[in-house]
Amino acid sequence: MIVVMKSGCTQADVDHVVELIRQLGLKDHIIVGTDRTVVAALGDKRGIDKGSIENAPMVDRIVPILAPYKVASREVKQEPSVVPLLTPEAEIGTQKIGVIAGPCSVESEAQIMDVARRVRAAGAIGLRGGAFKPRTNPYDFQGLGEEGLRLLARAREETGLAVVTEVMSIAQIDLVAEYADVLQIGARNMHNFNLLKAAGQCGKPVLLKRGMVASLDEFLLAAEYVISEGNPNVVLCERGIRTTETYVRNTLPLAIVPAIKRESHLPIIVDPSHGTGHAYMVPAMCRAAIAAGADGLMIEVHPDPEHALTDGAQSITCEAFEQVMQDLRAVAAAVGRTS
Ligand code: PEP
Ligand code: MN
Repeated sequence: MIVVMKSGCTQADVDHVVELIRQLGLKDHIIVGTDRTVVAALGDKRGIDKGSIENAPMVDRIVPILAPYKVASREVKQEPSVVPLLTPEAEIGTQKIGVIAGPCSVESEAQIMDVARRVRAAGAIGLRGGAFKPRTNPYDFQGLGEEGLRLLARAREETGLAVVTEVMSIAQIDLVAEYADVLQIGARNMHNFNLLKAAGQCGKPVLLKRGMVASLDEFLLAAEYVISEGNPNVVLCERGIRTTETYVRNTLPLAIVPAIKRESHLPIIVDPSHGTGHAYMVPAMCRAAIAAGADGLMIEVHPDPEHALTDGAQSITCEAFEQVMQDLRAVAAAVGRTS
């Protein structure tokens, strides 16, 4: 349920409501809106007497939240959320399209520095690159580990790009958070509820990828795990789902963009690299995602895709990335955004 405060309420009124919520054994989550402050009360409300809250000073009303997700839902917060990745310019969820680009995996200093400089010059705000890779085959390249994280941090130092990199387990969180600006939770871990909770407690923004067979509700409930731990900075990322199709690696359902916008205040970006599996499809799907209302993109870019250690077939070159960024300007303008 949400406790809607009257306008003009003081911090002491809000603190009192928070205390009452906690006394009932529920978790609180305060959302300060442009004209109203609301406090969400989260948890199992069976047998709970709401009377004390209803009658508290400056409480306007109590509204049940109908969606299964609460703090991720639009019912709790109507204004779209803006997630800062690193600096005030590196945000996702504003008028400006936020692009995160870089290789699937960090492979060497030369590779990551080269990509970082190129994507930065073309207008990216974030640098992606896996140091810990979730590989289907245990004998395949597993990532450079901490050395990869160090290289990403070096690239940030030079370019100012926000570093986005995957964390695969709770045990890796402290190490990854030491170097990264944004923790990526991959498709294979979207249902790893303990990891989601730990990422929520860590305090860094989280880029949450949709599980390859997850429904929209499951996707938003995964985000709910992170936010309900006190971390509101979640960026959703559609990366394609498993279907019976074989001409693509995954099927990219762009209809999720307007659906998420209707259900949630969280920003959503699209990853057309994993979403298609083919470099030639990536530029068209970047344009389509922005036309559909996505807040940004995550794109795999490699200086030499033919020799990439992971996901070369879906990685575009730095030149192709520059072209994508140019083409996005017109599309963004056509839908009232900037890029
Ligand atoms: C990745 O971003 O390289 C990755 C492994 O993505 P996903 O979790 O979407 O498969
Ligand atoms: Mn990849």
